[in-house]
Amino acid sequence: MTVPHYRRILVKLSGEALLGGDSYGIAPETLHRIADELAEINALGVEVAVVIGGGNIFRGAGLAAAGMDRVTADHMGMLATVMNALALQDALERRDVFCRVMSAIQINQVCEDYIRRRAVRHLEKGRVVIFAAGTGNPFFTTDSAASLRAVEVGAELLLKGTKVDGVYNSDPVTDPSAQRYEKLTYDDVLSQRLEVMDATAIVLCRDQGMRIMVFDITRPGAMVEAARGEPVGTVVDP
Ligand code: UDP
Repeated sequence: MTVPHYRRILVKLSGEALLGGDSYGIAPETLHRIADELAEINALGVEVAVVIGGGNIFRGAGLAAAGMDRVTADHMGMLATVMNALALQDALERRDVFCRVMSAIQINQVCEDYIRRRAVRHLEKGRVVIFAAGTGNPFFTTDSAASLRAVEVGAELLLKGTKVDGVYNSDPVTDPSAQRYEKLTYDDVLSQRLEVMDATAIVLCRDQGMRIMVFDITRPGAMVEAARGEPVGTVVDP
């Protein structure tokens, strides 16, 4: 049996990763493909934590721009991440993968509270842990939550799913001459304002030496390859 490359990883999925053809909500076929891949990674023996976003349902900044109080809007955004987390938990359990949702805001009838030691214990037992409600604080993002949780639970890699296969020097969707980076430092990302994750998340990863790999979540198999240690995207590390 081949030994998996990583012992423990954290996957950051944006809410958008759950969209299908529509611009809102959860597409069952997309959810099931992602659950299949997470189940495959779990079966490899890699401990997997997931931080899920909520942008497919609500984003605080968008609601605030439309006139809502920002803190209330961010609370709605955090609750949206809980909905996505529950959907992913359900999809994983249908595949007989043991799974726990842990929320940064207390919502005990629905899921567990985030308690670091308990989260680590779940991971050690081979359960997939889905971290919901971001950091629990308004004005933050789930990218920041991903970097924070990755560091807290001692993940070796933060796998950041995006719509393209890495980080480019310009938008590859609109610029055919865009060049993909194989490797970047945290300071490259910050100084060139490259779209990897928000600056708060990058700074925490930099200060704690958390390696990031940006991969294409829309390509079937890419997440499993990345978890196996294959070079499928752009790596950001010291
Ligand atoms: N959010 C928050 N604090 C956090 C994480 C998220 O207030 O620590 C809110 C915020 O309103 C954000 C929404 O939850 O817009 C959804 O998260 P995010 O935009 O990061 O989701 P993604 O873009 O990854 O789908």
